Amino acid sequence: MKNIKDSKSTEIKIPIFGEGEMSNLIRSFNWSSTSLGPITEWANELLITVNTMLQSPIPMVLLWGEEGILLYNDAYAIFAGARHPFLLGQKVLEGWPEVSEFNQNVLRNGFLGQTLSFKDQQLTLYRNNIAEEVWLDLNYSPVLNKYGKPSGILAIVVETTQQVLAQRRQKVAEENLKNEQQMLYSLFLNAPAAIAILNGSDLVYKFANESYKSLVGGSKREFLNRPLTEVFPEIEENIHTILKNVAFKGERFIASELPITLDWNNTGNPFTKYLNFVYEPVYENGKPNGVISFAFDISNTVISKKQAEDSEAKLRAILEATPHCIKIVEPDGTLQYMNASGLKLLEGMSEVLGIENVFNLIAPEDIAEWKKNHDFVCKGNKLSWRFDMKGYEGQQHKMETHAVPLWDGEKFLHVAVTRDITDQHQFEETLKQSEAKMRDLANAMPQLVWAANPDGTVDYYNNNVLDFEGIVLIDGQYHWTPVLHEEDLEKTVNAWNEAMKNGNTYEIEHRVKIKNKGFRWFLSRAVPAKDENGNLIKWYGTATDIDDIKKFEEQLKIAQEDTNLLMAKKDEFIGIASHELKTPLTTIKASLQIVQGLLKEQNYELTQQLISKTESNVDKLTGLINDLLNVSKIQSGHLQLNYTTFFAKDLVESCLDQISFQTKNHQIEIKGNSNKVIMGDKYRLEQVLCNLITNAIKYSTQGKQVILETKNDDTHFEVSVTDFGIGIPSHKLPFIFDKFFRVEKNSMNYQGLGLGLHIAKEIVERHGGTISAKSEEGKGSCFSFKVPLTATN
Ligand code: ADP
Repeated sequence: MKNIKDSKSTEIKIPIFGEGEMSNLIRSFNWSSTSLGPITEWANELLITVNTMLQSPIPMVLLWGEEGILLYNDAYAIFAGARHPFLLGQKVLEGWPEVSEFNQNVLRNGFLGQTLSFKDQQLTLYRNNIAEEVWLDLNYSPVLNKYGKPSGILAIVVETTQQVLAQRRQKVAEENLKNEQQMLYSLFLNAPAAIAILNGSDLVYKFANESYKSLVGGSKREFLNRPLTEVFPEIEENIHTILKNVAFKGERFIASELPITLDWNNTGNPFTKYLNFVYEPVYENGKPNGVISFAFDISNTVISKKQAEDSEAKLRAILEATPHCIKIVEPDGTLQYMNASGLKLLEGMSEVLGIENVFNLIAPEDIAEWKKNHDFVCKGNKLSWRFDMKGYEGQQHKMETHAVPLWDGEKFLHVAVTRDITDQHQFEETLKQSEAKMRDLANAMPQLVWAANPDGTVDYYNNNVLDFEGIVLIDGQYHWTPVLHEEDLEKTVNAWNEAMKNGNTYEIEHRVKIKNKGFRWFLSRAVPAKDENGNLIKWYGTATDIDDIKKFEEQLKIAQEDTNLLMAKKDEFIGIASHELKTPLTTIKASLQIVQGLLKEQNYELTQQLISKTESNVDKLTGLINDLLNVSKIQSGHLQLNYTTFFAKDLVESCLDQISFQTKNHQIEIKGNSNKVIMGDKYRLEQVLCNLITNAIKYSTQGKQVILETKNDDTHFEVSVTDFGIGIPSHKLPFIFDKFFRVEKNSMNYQGLGLGLHIAKEIVERHGGTISAKSEEGKGSCFSFKVPLTATN
């Protein structure tokens, strides 16, 4: 009104109405500085639109001209915040630079005659110089001129920021609620507690989590939407009553370790489980109409507890029944527990009454050691020891204690089993003394003395073990196999194993290595010691040096064999001798009988012949007896040699003379003409040569030739006699000079006692000479001897 009046009085027409802030500002604004020009020149459509806008309580803004010059009403001025009043008359893109892109689009479309509508359009504005998220409902309509063309764009701007934010908050709250519900559901579903919800008059299952299902029979039972009595027809009446009281009277029920007997696994075998549970009433419309059950299966805990109680009771019974003292001692020596046997033991032996501290019980000389051991146990260690305890009238008791540490949650206690071992100790002392005596005794013995356990391990040797090379002590056990001769090892081990297996006496002779002496024969012998039940408890053994005896035995054996051989030879000899001696005697006897007859008939010529035959047989007998005498002299060392000097030639000739009567069928060829002077026993050397020639003739009935060869050098004279007779098998040749030896095959066909060569050898060797034989069976033999020219007796 004022404006109209003013316009009348000034006659300037300013057709902007209203008294609001914006009306005034628009009126007073210098529009000439803008593309709109002075108000007085504004087009009708601009004026009408501006006035309409100024009348509206809804925030409105007008973007005029292609630059979008801004004009707005009071409500918009509030919306614009600190941008107001700067915005008035500004180009829209400059007035709202932060949303210029958005406004360009508005201008473009508006001037194309189009309307634009945005619901809850989010924009970031700097209304109060800070970035602000705003949500707006925006409606843009073109303002047309009289030609129907858009001159500007009118926008209705309704800020919905509060609503949008409220909606968002609500949505978040709803989602939170939903999440919470889901969380709660999943908590219930997966809770370790067995949870079930039952409601309605029949107590129908509305919820049962996994724990509940597995507690009451897993997948075998169906719960959801089934009444309790249908799911558990066997339910105990008292439990059913409790549930009904909770569900319909609202009486909360809490139970712990409640035994419930049900067919839990739905297998037809009801059994008892122990449960801790809470039945809470569920309210509907303020009235109790159901139960939520939280249950925990604590059967294992209850059973373990019961077992622990049982075993504790058993343990106590054992502790009280044991005849030994069992005690628990605190680190400071305070007696925490002592069983009945312990107390009784003390009653019988100790002057100390009403013991509180065990230190008081220990004999003064042992107290320091005892406390040290006790501290060691109270540091968590096991230990056994012996000590003396004070007794009546100064008497002491020897005790043995086995202590272990026991952790009570804060410290180690000393738990011990203690025994009175006074008697045992005395017995042990006596045993020790007698053991010492036994050891002294064992060490005094010349043999190796040892002891072994039933498993064969040797645990004792007397001091003589030091003489044995190879016995080693490892970890308290002796290893004796290295001492044995390797050839005796197997049989010894077998014999020892055999004895251990059967519990029989062990006895074996074997070679054992002795320091600095090498292997010697020993007789090892062991006897098992057995307890009263016949169980083997120990082996006691000795090893005795039998090397000398063994060697003597061997010599004895050889001597025995020699004797046997000699006896055989003797028998053989007696056979031969009796045969040899009998033949000439028979002939002599026969000859003498004939001589007697002939003497009667006086046939002297034949008598002469027979007497000479008898003479020859007597000579034979004399020769045989001489041989025997010679052997006996040799044997007794009485064969005398009478040394003279003589020519070698005389020796040979004298010999040929002596045997001339034997050589009828043989030709003796003499080779060599050695004629050295020899100093020796001529008679005995003749005996040797005669024997060789006699043998050559005797053992060569086929070959008629015998070669006698003499040789000499400056020191020696040598004779050899070669024949071409039966010869001697090579394996018999080495024995040819042995006493009574005769080549078997020949013995019965040829006379002789097997002494000639033996005597010859003895004679030659007594002269310091040698005798030898070479022969080939079936071809002949060559015997030769060699003596020094100057023989020494
Ligand atoms: P014997 O009186 O038995 O001949 P000897 O001691 O002279 O005793 O001879 C021992 C044995 O040696 C004889 O029994 C004979 O078997 C064998 N022997 C000795 N000389 C000869 C030889 N020249 N040819 C073959 N065998 C012989």
